[in-house]
Amino acid sequence: MKVPLLDLKKQYKSIKEEILKVAEEIFESQYFILGPRVEALEKEIAGYCSSKHAVGVSSGTDALLISLMAADIGSQHTVITTPYTFFATAGSIFRTGARPIFVDIDPDTYNISPESLESVIAAMTGKELARLKAVMPVHLYGQCADMDPILKIAKEYNLFVIEDAAQAIGAEYRGRRAGAMGDFGCFSFFPSKNLGAFGDGGIVTTGSDELYDKLRILRVHGSHPKYYHKLAGGNFRLDAFQAAVVSVKLKHLDKWTKGRRENANKYRELFANAGIDDVIKLPVEKEDRHIYNQFVICVKDKRDDLRLFLNDVGVGTEIYYPIPMHLQECFLSLNYKNGDFPMAEYAALHTLALPIYPELSDDQLAYVVEKIAAFFEIKG
Ligand SMILES: *Cc1c(COP(=O)(O)O)cnc(C)c1O
Repeated sequence: MKVPLLDLKKQYKSIKEEILKVAEEIFESQYFILGPRVEALEKEIAGYCSSKHAVGVSSGTDALLISLMAADIGSQHTVITTPYTFFATAGSIFRTGARPIFVDIDPDTYNISPESLESVIAAMTGKELARLKAVMPVHLYGQCADMDPILKIAKEYNLFVIEDAAQAIGAEYRGRRAGAMGDFGCFSFFPSKNLGAFGDGGIVTTGSDELYDKLRILRVHGSHPKYYHKLAGGNFRLDAFQAAVVSVKLKHLDKWTKGRRENANKYRELFANAGIDDVIKLPVEKEDRHIYNQFVICVKDKRDDLRLFLNDVGVGTEIYYPIPMHLQECFLSLNYKNGDFPMAEYAALHTLALPIYPELSDDQLAYVVEKIAAFFEIKG
């Protein structure tokens, strides 16, 4: 049996007619960038995320970058974030010239630890505090970071909160939606996200009228009015076609999220019956609701051997992420070293993402768990 990590062809089959219809309309109109399709999507996403505004942009990475730019963050600033994330989180901070400051993660959720955040800020001198401008929590794998204490700290120290919600569209935290808690919510429409385009795309949500205006101006090179530049922005525009694809998919998102959550529950049952909970830790659901962009297990021992074994029997897996940000070569100048963030380093060595997409069959789920159990029987 084959169980790929993700199979988007199955999803496409289920929405093919809707997609082809909007594609034809766009091709006939020959109107490709921004415009009514993007504006419609912005309204839909703002509504879905219960945020006041949304601004469609070119990618999730650019959503982060443009948010930092809208917050006027630059080389004289620092931004606190997690070392255990996709590169774009720390990369976008670094690209503004600001210095990313990492703090360790919660070993259960893999999200930034509010306690570590608090103690790092508490230890800062007056000068260091003056440079600190924002905190960028990531809602990793589709579960929100513990936002209440983060928002409290941010308020106390007057910091922007930029939510990296690239993996978390529709995730909730104590009744609030991902992207609607901070000053900015950054989403990605990369095809493998829960709400994916047919190419690159992203969106920023914000509750602030002022930041909304600034984001829209920065998106078109800072031009306002046309050819007059008070700000130096960039080309952060979203394509009409990508917006139309995302609009089509958004109508199905809750159903797909439900499917992912059901698969997670089926995995829990299957793993419980397999009796290998001494060697494997399942994802810990702390916040309601987790949208399972990834179902990530923690393997106490022989993670890499298990991955090779699963690959040989047709089960696709991935390691998100094998090298924490503080150990990346391009961040050598930040002067971090191995041992600085033990929880993030442990996660990088022990986590493994299993297939979780909604179209998986019960047989496929059972096969994945059966093979994992078989591996531990063989290897002891
Ligand atoms: C995917 C992702 C991004 C970047 O999104 P792109 O659309 O690929 O640029 C940023 N942060 C996290 C946590 C992501 O998973």
